[in-house]
Amino acid sequence: MATCLVTGGAGFLGSHLCDELLRRGDRVICVDNLETGSLVNIEHIRVPEFVHLNVDITEPYFVDEPVDVVFHLASPASPIDYLRLPLHTLKVGSYGTHHTLGLAKLHRARFLLASTSEVYGDPKEHPQREDYWGHVNSVGPRGVYDEAKRYAEALTMAYHRQQGVDTSIVRIFNTYGPRMRPHDGRAIPTFLRQALDDRPITVFGDGAQTRSFCYVDDLIRGIIALAGSREHLPVNIGNPEEFTLLELAEKVIEATGSRSEIVHEALPVDDPQQRRPDIARAREILGWEPQVSLGEGLRRTIDQAGTEALLGIAR
Ligand code: NAD
Repeated sequence: MATCLVTGGAGFLGSHLCDELLRRGDRVICVDNLETGSLVNIEHIRVPEFVHLNVDITEPYFVDEPVDVVFHLASPASPIDYLRLPLHTLKVGSYGTHHTLGLAKLHRARFLLASTSEVYGDPKEHPQREDYWGHVNSVGPRGVYDEAKRYAEALTMAYHRQQGVDTSIVRIFNTYGPRMRPHDGRAIPTFLRQALDDRPITVFGDGAQTRSFCYVDDLIRGIIALAGSREHLPVNIGNPEEFTLLELAEKVIEATGSRSEIVHEALPVDDPQQRRPDIARAREILGWEPQVSLGEGLRRTIDQAGTEALLGIAR
């Protein structure tokens, strides 16, 4: 049994990771100050192998028991959060990552940084391979998130090269599933909420911009495989099937049986035109690839989350 520390463990992805690690027989220490996460995401976990520490990782923190693997997921992640919390986002990516890497070093633990496809910015290469350096606007409103993650990647490699920490970096592409917050501003929760309410589905711009969407179970399997590997360089994890936003809206209408119509709204600043991971490295190094199609993932999300949760109706 390994002891895993999960920063951001009360968030959307972190809580699914905690569930899966416990299911595999590991012990989990969840470190989360609930800045954008919620106790609702972990309230179902009632086993002695799980502990939640309400700690802000931008301050130095310590854990007084051995730790084998550190999964560093804490960070505001959706535009609505990092635009509201720009300085906090930069602090979590910098101080928070420093403190968490320091902890991994102290415990001689394997470390995994949850990075993002946003490090590629509005990419000029398509699909995005890990050796593409990106096209990011450092002074635009999204710069706080993109540059925090780029800094966190540089810091992770420095701890590896200079301090000998056993590090890994996953570049996560858009992921969806139960426990997404209905009002977090991302396309899938917004479209699902609107469709389930039979209200118009709001597509930014003409809807021709593309994204790829990975179901959460596939992503968690990929993250755990990467942590279990010996790889140090970044690995993309995401679903390479590409959809326009208009196609996504149509899939959501189909999965929900909604009567919603599609309407168009202004495009946000620096909204990337295309996004699709090249997952050749994940296939080769981890033997990983996604298994859940978009239609199936949407159905599972609706079934498992339930309509009330997706509509944001408080219990
Ligand atoms: P989330 O907001 O649901 O989870 C983030 C968690 O971090 C929250 O529970 C929050 O309370 C916690 N947190 C924030 N600041 C903290 C602090 N100072 N101290 C302790 N805890 C803190 O977001 P998510 O979608 O689950 O994303 C998790 C990670 O995955 C993030 O690092 C994000 O950048 C990355 N990621 C997610 C996606 C995606 O599609 N969801 C895509 C790319 C990358």
